Amino acid sequence: MARDLDIYLAGEWTPGTGTETREVRSPGSGEHIANVPLASAGDIDRAVRAARHAQDDFRHWTAIERAALLHRIADAVADNIEEIARIQTLEQGKPYHEESLADIAEANQYFLNAAEDVKRLTGSVIPTSDRNKRMFTFHRPVGVWAAITPWNFPVTIPLEYIGPGLAAGNAVIAKPPDFTAWGLLELAKAFDAAGVPKGLVSIIPGGGDVGEALVTHDGIDAIGFTGSSTTGRRILSQMGIKRSVMEMSGNGPTIVTEDANLDAAAELTVFGARYNAGQVCCATEKVIVLESIHDEFVARALRHIERIVLGDPFDETTTMGPLNNQPTAHKMDRHVADAKERGATVLTGGKRAAGFPTDLYYEFTMIDRVPEDALVSREETFGPVLPIVSARDDEEAIAIAGRSDLGLQAAVFTSSLDKAFWYTDRIRAGTVVINDSTDFWETFQPFGGAAGTASGWGRGTIDDFTDLQTMVIDIGNVQ
Ligand code: NAD
Repeated sequence: MARDLDIYLAGEWTPGTGTETREVRSPGSGEHIANVPLASAGDIDRAVRAARHAQDDFRHWTAIERAALLHRIADAVADNIEEIARIQTLEQGKPYHEESLADIAEANQYFLNAAEDVKRLTGSVIPTSDRNKRMFTFHRPVGVWAAITPWNFPVTIPLEYIGPGLAAGNAVIAKPPDFTAWGLLELAKAFDAAGVPKGLVSIIPGGGDVGEALVTHDGIDAIGFTGSSTTGRRILSQMGIKRSVMEMSGNGPTIVTEDANLDAAAELTVFGARYNAGQVCCATEKVIVLESIHDEFVARALRHIERIVLGDPFDETTTMGPLNNQPTAHKMDRHVADAKERGATVLTGGKRAAGFPTDLYYEFTMIDRVPEDALVSREETFGPVLPIVSARDDEEAIAIAGRSDLGLQAAVFTSSLDKAFWYTDRIRAGTVVINDSTDFWETFQPFGGAAGTASGWGRGTIDDFTDLQTMVIDIGNVQ
C-alpha cells in the first residue's frame, strides 16, 4: 500500500496547496511505494517568507545556542537510523545492509561536525596603519539558502547544506527530487523533535520547475546545488546575484602505475565503479593503466568483479542493487553501444540483467581498450562501468587524465611517495586520493571541484555558509 506523504513546509506537515502528486515506484521491486505532493508556487513563496522570518531571529542566536540545537537534531536523527535507511533503499535502490545503513548511520555526523565547527569559528583582529583605527572581522550568516540536490545520496547530500548552513545561522529550504524525497522527509521529523524554529528548514520535493522557482526567487540569498554540470550551468545563468556552492559532475580518473600494489588497485577500482551501482559523483569512471601491467591488472580486476552480487537491495548478500531510474539505465545502454562501435572490448557485462522484477538491474561492465573519443571516456556515465585505457608512461597517463573539463576527485595507485606528489601536483582535481578508491569519502573531508573545471566550487565547510563582515572603529573621533 503506497504511503501518502506530507511535505515539510514552513514548520508544518502538509500536503500543500498544489493539485498534483508524484507517484513513486521502488527501483528494486517496481512497486508503487509512495505519493509525494508537488508544491504550488504559493507554497514555495510561503516557505521562503517563513524562512526569512525565522532567520531574522535565528541570526542572533549565539554560536553556543546553535551548536546545542545541532546536537539535539543529531540525537533525534540517531534514534531513527534504521527506518530512514530502509526508506532510502526502497526509493533509491542501494543495498540496505552494504550501503544504506552505513550511509544513514553517519547522517548525524553532519550536524555534530557543524556544531563543533561553529564553536571554533573565530573572527580576526586586523593590524591597521592608522594609529586610531581598530579593525575586526565577524562571520555573519548569508541568509536563506535553497539546497537543490540529486537522487543518488538523497538523504545525506541535503545535510551537507542543512548542517553547516544552520550552524552558521542561515535558514535552508531543501529541494530533493520528488522520487527520492521520502527518506529526507522521514529525517525531518528530527527537526521538530529538536525544537528547530518553525520555518527555518523546509523540505519541498519536486522537479526542475520547483528548483527553478527557488533559483529565481528574490527571497533566496544563496544556492547550494549538487547535481549535473548541465543543470548547474542552467542555474548559474538564471540565479542573478546570489551566493553559491556548486557541487557538480565528476569522472573519477584513476591511474595505476607500474609500482602499484596491483591487488589493492584492482579491488578498489572495481569497488569505485560498483558502489551505489556507479551512481556516485566521484565513482571510478576511467582507469588509466600503464601498458606493462595492463594484462595483469585486467585479470585481477575480473576476479573481483566475479564476486559482485547483483540482487534485491534488501538481501543481506547483495553488493549491488538496481539503477535508480530509466534515464541512467538508458545512458549506460548508449555508452556501452558507443564504446563497442568504436572498437572497445566488453570483457564482462554490457547489458541489463534478466530475471529481476524491474529492468533497472544492470550487469557490472568492464570495457577494455576504450578509445578517448568514446562517450564512456568523455562523459560521466553514472553507472556500474569500469572503462580501461592504457598509457605508455606516467607523462601519457597524466595527459589522458587531464583531457576532461571535470575535476572532482582522482586516484593514483603507487608505492612511491615522490610519484604520489608528482601526480598530485599535476592532476586538476579537488581531491587526489593515493592508494584508495576515488569513492573514498569522509564527512570531515573538504570536498569539491578544482577551480576552472565544470565540477564546481565550494568545499562544504562552514566558511562556505558565512559572510565575512569587517568592523572599523576610530578611537580618536569620540566626544
Ligand atoms: P540533475 O542535475 O539532473 O538534478 C539535480 C537537482 O537539480 C535535482 O533536484 C533536480 O530536480 C534539480 N533541477 C533540475 N533542473 C533544474 C533547473 N532548471 N533549475 C533548478 N533545479 C533543477 O542531477 P541528478 O541526475 O539528480 O544527479 C546526478 C548528478 O549529480 C551527476 O552529474 C553527479 O556527478 C552529480 N553529483 C555531484 C556531487 C558532488 O558532490 N559534486 C554529488 C552527487 C551527485
